This record gives sequence, structure tokens and C-alpha cells, in this order.
Amino acid sequence: MKKKVLAITMAALMAASLTACGGGAKDTAAADTAAATTEEKAEDTTAAESKDETSAEAAETEAAKDAAGGKLIMATNAEFPPYEYHDGDAVVGIDAEIAKAIADELGMELEIEDIAFDSIIPEIVSGKADMGLAGMTVTEDRMQSVDFSDTYAKASQKIIVTEDSEIVSPDDLKGVIVGVQLGTTGDIYVSDLEADGTTVERYNKGFEAVQALSQGKIDAVVIDGEPAKTFVAETEGLKILDESFTDEEYAIAVKKGNTELLEKINGALKTLKDNGTLDEIVAKYIKAE
Ligand code: GLN
Repeated sequence: MKKKVLAITMAALMAASLTACGGGAKDTAAADTAAATTEEKAEDTTAAESKDETSAEAAETEAAKDAAGGKLIMATNAEFPPYEYHDGDAVVGIDAEIAKAIADELGMELEIEDIAFDSIIPEIVSGKADMGLAGMTVTEDRMQSVDFSDTYAKASQKIIVTEDSEIVSPDDLKGVIVGVQLGTTGDIYVSDLEADGTTVERYNKGFEAVQALSQGKIDAVVIDGEPAKTFVAETEGLKILDESFTDEEYAIAVKKGNTELLEKINGALKTLKDNGTLDEIVAKYIKAE
């Protein structure tokens, strides 16, 4: 209400000063118009104000929720089975379930944001997402931008080739065309071979690289072991080499310096490791061989 009174006073003042300046009939009319417009604006202000009030109420509800734990926004790239993939509209998989279990431990509400893999770290750095779970490998380089939780899975980069391929070990990737998913450790490490004449083809989705391989467009794909198994099972004529290209570990990324959240996540992870929940989640998606 205060705003409206103020606006009307302003309008009156403006009208008065306009009248004072000119004094002629025309000016007065102009002044009236000015007053009317200002008053209309004042009404608008009131409308805006009540909108403000509504959002203030919403903010209070949010704040109340925050007090009870709040929202935990997870950024991921749901193209990475069995860690994260789509089931209809839902993002499911090991990471989605771990994140849900962590949110439950912390009394928070999980929200999943599905974005490009190479946007996950920027999303965390900018504070738009609280944490990244995306089968994300801990690397020195990434540690310059984000902090990582304790690790929750061991992983490796594997090489996929056609069944009749002459590529039998990581050394054979020199000088051939290798498909990777953009911005992943596969991309980073295979790019080191460019000096040896390797051509790197970067795809937005790992599965696109696998499709290119099965169409004979490229010679090999380097990708994490578990999605490699899923993609090869879905595609004719491909195999995974026994020898790994690298050995890695997955962890949860949070904004650099957010030790409060990091400690909460590590605490929840420890509980989930100790009480067997983590193993149960993994066993649901990865069948023992
Ligand atoms: N583990 C790989 C990395 O961290 C790939 C992750 C992914 O594609 N989701 O770069």
C-alpha cells in the first residue's frame, strides 16, 4: 500500500509543478494527463506489489523448505547407461538412485537436470546445480574447477571395435580414427594420441560414436566400461577389448569451496556404503558376470 500512496503523492506533485510552470489551460490538461498516467502506473505498482507479495510468500515457503533441507539439484547427462539414462520422461540409473538416497539421507528434495556432459561442471561452478553425478571421473584438471566427494565407483575406459578388427590393444589406437564422447576422459586421453597420428571424432552422445563404428565410419570407440557393455549388447558385430585404456574412479562434483555440502554428501555416502544401499543400487543395474 505504501507504494501506491507514494505514487499518488508523486503524481499530485508532478501535476502541481506542471501547473506551476505553465499555468495555461493546455498545460493543466497536460498535467491532468500526467497525473492520470502516473495514477495508472500507481495501480500497476499495486498489482506488481501483490505479485511481489505472492512471490514473497513463495520464497518464504522455499525458505521453510530450506530449513527442512531444501532442494538438491543434480546435474547429469542421461546418455550414460547404466549410470543415467531415460526411462520415458524419468532419468533413472545408478547415479539417479544414489543421488535420491543421498537426498533422502539429508532430508532434501532431489531435482535432476539433464544437460550436455561438458556443461555439468560449468553448471556447478555457476551455482545453478548443487552437484554433478554423471559417472564423472576424478581428474586433476577438473579439480581445478570443482571439488569431488569420496569416490563411489571404480571405472575404466574401454575400447570397442568391430568383431573383425585388427585393433587388439590400446597401442593400436595410434594412427586410426577413434570416436569418443565430447568432453569425457575418453576424449581427453585419446586426444593425447593425436600427436601419434590418431584422428579423434567427438560425438555428443556415446551411443552416436558406437553407431558410427558399426557403420564403418570410424575404427574404434573409447568409452567407459559399463556404457560400453550396454551399447555393445544393443549393437550387432561389436566387441570390447579386454585391456583397459585407463583406470578411473567416479565421484560427485560440488562447487569449489562448498565444504558444507561436500561434508554432508560424504557423510551420506558413507552411510549408504556402510548399510549396503550403495551395493544394492549397483547390483540392480550391473549384473555380476
Ligand atoms: N567417466 C567419463 C568422464 O568423467 C565419462 C562420463 C560420461 O560420459 N558421463 O569423463
